[in-house]
Order: sequence, then structure tokens, then C-alpha cells
Amino acid sequence: MADEPVEQSILVVCAHPDDECIGAGGTIANHTTCGHRVGVLCLTGNEQRNAELRAACRRLGADLVLTSERDDFDISLALVREVADAIIRTRPQIVMTHSQDDYNRAHVETSRVVVEAVEWASHVTQYDDAHRVERVYFMEINSLITHPNVMVDITSSYDTALDALRQHQSQVEKAGGFYPRLYDARTRLRGVQAACDRAEAFTVYLPRHAGPFYHQNSVQTLL
Ligand SMILES: [Zn+2]
Repeated sequence: MADEPVEQSILVVCAHPDDECIGAGGTIANHTTCGHRVGVLCLTGNEQRNAELRAACRRLGADLVLTSERDDFDISLALVREVADAIIRTRPQIVMTHSQDDYNRAHVETSRVVVEAVEWASHVTQYDDAHRVERVYFMEINSLITHPNVMVDITSSYDTALDALRQHQSQVEKAGGFYPRLYDARTRLRGVQAACDRAEAFTVYLPRHAGPFYHQNSVQTLL
């Protein structure tokens, strides 16, 4: 009997409500339009910003939104566990999160937590139903990635992504509309580099999944 097809899904883990739109809004919309599941886990929030996050995710077609009432955070065992639990629950092939070259401290901390949680979630001594994430994509917010190795063409989803970003009403008017203007300019820049109208840029990280407990790493030949 043929194996059941694996449902392809993505989990986006971000520091603040609105990062999911600024970093990967068009990419999220591209995938949900194709019928893939996308979940968003945000590590900080409050009542208003979480309501905005849910409205934005509805626009993007993301079907699962995991929010927090946390103001700020440091890397802790509990936080790594929280992200690993979300990975176990959603079982994504791909996790998207912040770049570790970002200037924002919370973005960098989030990225580090995610990399640790991806390893932890795949470990059979931690979880009976351990799950191996195949790839992690680091996204850009205000700090541009110096050498992106993947550009996602978001020409067809830009309007949806911008509409989703505008759902973050407490943020979009700040500093003369900085975030929508940044998203407009940055996706056009990346579009020039990617030979399309608009794009979002990422770097790819392959989880190590290394160590004595990863039997899937055992092969007979390398070719
Ligand atoms: Zn942020």
C-alpha cells in the first residue's frame, strides 16, 4: 500500500506581530494560495496586537495563529520548549524565522531559539513523536540580508501581503508609514535582483540533526 502523502506545511516563528507580514507576507500568501498550510507562532503580543495579527493572518490564509501575551523575552529552556512543542504540534517541513544578522535584539533571540527548538523537536529522547524540520529560512525585516540565496517571486501576492500588513493598525502609521514604505521599497529592490516585479529574500539553514539518536542519518551509499 502506498504511503499517505505528507501534507506540506510551513511554520513561521516571529518576535512581534507584523514581522510575519514584513518578512514573509507575500511568501505566506503564495503558499496558502497553492493549498499549503501555514501556521504563525508569535513570541510577544498583547490583546490589541494579537487581534491585528489574527486579522493579518486571515488575509494571508494562515490557518493557525499561536499568540503570546509576553512583553519581551530572553532565551530560556521554557521558550525553546514552547517553540519545539509548536513544531511537534504542526509538523512543518519548513520553518521560517528571523535572520541572526538582524539589528533587533528580539529578532536575533527568536532566531536562536528556533534553531535550538528545531534540533530539540527532532530528538527521540525528547519527544516520542519527534519531528524533523527539513529546512529553516531566515527572513529580513529592516536589516537587509547581505547574501540571500533564495528569492521568492511575490509579484502576484504583493497586494494581498500589503493589505495584511495594513491590518496591523497600531504599527502602520508609525514614523510616517515606515513599515509599508519599507516593504514596498525592499520587495521592489529584491524584485530587481530576482528578475521579477517584487520578491522576498531569504537564506536557507539546514538543521544539523546530528548526534547518536538520529537513525535516519544512516545510509548505505552517498550517491
Ligand atoms: Zn519585530
